[in-house]
Amino acid sequence: MSGTPEELAEVRGVGGTPEELVVEGLCKRYGDHLAVDDVSFTLAPGASLGIVGESGSGKTTTVRMLVGLERPDGGTVRVGGRDRSAPARGRAERLARAREIQMVFQDPYLSLDPRVPVGRCVEEVLRLHHPMEARAREARVAELLDQVGLGEREAAALPGKLSGGQRQRVAIARALAAEPRVLVLDEAVAALDVSIQAQVLELLNTIRREVGIGFLFVTHDLAVVRHITDELMVLKAGRVVEQGPTSRLLDAPAHPYTRLLLDSVPRRGWNPSSVSTSRRPSGA
Ligand code: ADP
Ligand code: MG
Repeated sequence: MSGTPEELAEVRGVGGTPEELVVEGLCKRYGDHLAVDDVSFTLAPGASLGIVGESGSGKTTTVRMLVGLERPDGGTVRVGGRDRSAPARGRAERLARAREIQMVFQDPYLSLDPRVPVGRCVEEVLRLHHPMEARAREARVAELLDQVGLGEREAAALPGKLSGGQRQRVAIARALAAEPRVLVLDEAVAALDVSIQAQVLELLNTIRREVGIGFLFVTHDLAVVRHITDELMVLKAGRVVEQGPTSRLLDAPAHPYTRLLLDSVPRRGWNPSSVSTSRRPSGA
């Protein structure tokens, strides 16, 4: 690796390990409303960071800026040292950026073309990012679908013929087809039944182990982060209020807002009225 000590320091974390994704001072304003306010974090190669916070806290806006769907008003986003905050110059750069970070959305109904069999939808991503001979491409499609637990029958089906969980598996396979370094999952299991949620989370963990890909796992639901993330970042009204190892934040949250989010997770002995009481502004 070449570069000045400053440049090297920029892409290396405090422990000397190279950082995959480095986000610094990210801001986004909608009119007078500051939706994302000075958000910074790093993601090491193959690490999994959870971005949590209630609805409207700025999670989606943050990750949309990372993938380039939204333009930051301030701050920088770098992957492997390359800045991606400025608009991409041309198609080649757009494609190169897409290969770095891929995103899976909450609703695969909206992100999959209803007229295209899912195997072909995965194939289109391969055509775009990794040109190869037709036979090799077919084999790669089968391999990617197999990786998410889908076979030939599903490959030939239209998205409408698949279950919600199967569609989300297709969306994951399609994202993996680009061979990204970072996969952003924005409420990716939120629309699924609890048992299907568990299966998809298990699948994601297996993929992370096998592919060594980094995850940014965005959710309003603290019940799902323990098994899928190493670190958590808690957003409240666009600002980071707490950040640290997942087990520490879940077992000994330091910030009252993190505690409130935890209290909102239904579990044995859970009391919804105590949550709504503590949510009321004092004196109200
Ligand atoms: P989350 O994903 O945590 O639910 P969002 O990032 O979607 O939160 O939204 C954060 C804030 O920004 C909310 O107040 C939301 O209403 C506002 N917001 C998001 N997108 C837009 C937009 N395109 N125009 C105006 N306001 C927006
Ligand atoms: Mg959102």
